[in-house]
Amino acid sequence: MRRFEILHRVRTAAYLLRPSQLALRGFRCPVCGPSLLVRLSASDIGVRCMRCAASAMTLSLVCVLKELRPGLGGEAVYELSSRGPLFEFLRREVPRLTFSEFFNDLEPGAWRGGVQCQDVQRLTFNDSSFDVVTSTGVFEHVADDARGFCEVRRVLRPGGIFVFTVPLSDAEDTVERARMRDGTIEYLLPPEYHGDRIRGRGRVLAYRNYGRDITERVRSSGFRSADIDWRFKSAFLGQGSGVVVARI
Ligand SMILES: [Zn+2]
Repeated sequence: MRRFEILHRVRTAAYLLRPSQLALRGFRCPVCGPSLLVRLSASDIGVRCMRCAASAMTLSLVCVLKELRPGLGGEAVYELSSRGPLFEFLRREVPRLTFSEFFNDLEPGAWRGGVQCQDVQRLTFNDSSFDVVTSTGVFEHVADDARGFCEVRRVLRPGGIFVFTVPLSDAEDTVERARMRDGTIEYLLPPEYHGDRIRGRGRVLAYRNYGRDITERVRSSGFRSADIDWRFKSAFLGQGSGVVVARI
């Protein structure tokens, strides 16, 4: 493990830790095999595999993905990030993996440090390029998410699936927090920021808090079906995440 990664993990653990919620148990990690599951705090990113550091959100997604696509290693997969446990899992399992990051100072298609810049609202890939597209915690940060869903559908082949997670509330309706108007962000509610591995903690604006209607939003972007798989919502020491599965 690189020094940067160790430091990142220690900092993340210190940030997440709530001593009263601490718990530990053995489990078979869907990402890395026999391991220990630790609950640092009662949230979907506060429960992690001790070996690969995958959060309950990532663990939920990988469980669903492995079940839906047991032949994942033979497929063309596109993941919308270039770091973290999901990316490392896909890099090990999938020879034909394409990955990217959004760098706001680079044109889509340009490269930085071996990583291609992509804006999911205007992907540079050809139509029907991939069998599977994955993302975790991306779409709440996309100004025009409908445009992004359309783009994911465009680059998927017939029979392809889009498997992703976002923070999902139990509410029926999505709450819009901000929107882009003529290149300027307009705030409808007090700004909410999340972190990512490129920009750091609390640096990325959440445009919305998704509710259960995310499935309709995805379907109206041209997917044949979209459902939330809730089976792993509390599978990992009481934590986990709904996983959206969309098919074309
Ligand atoms: Zn693991």
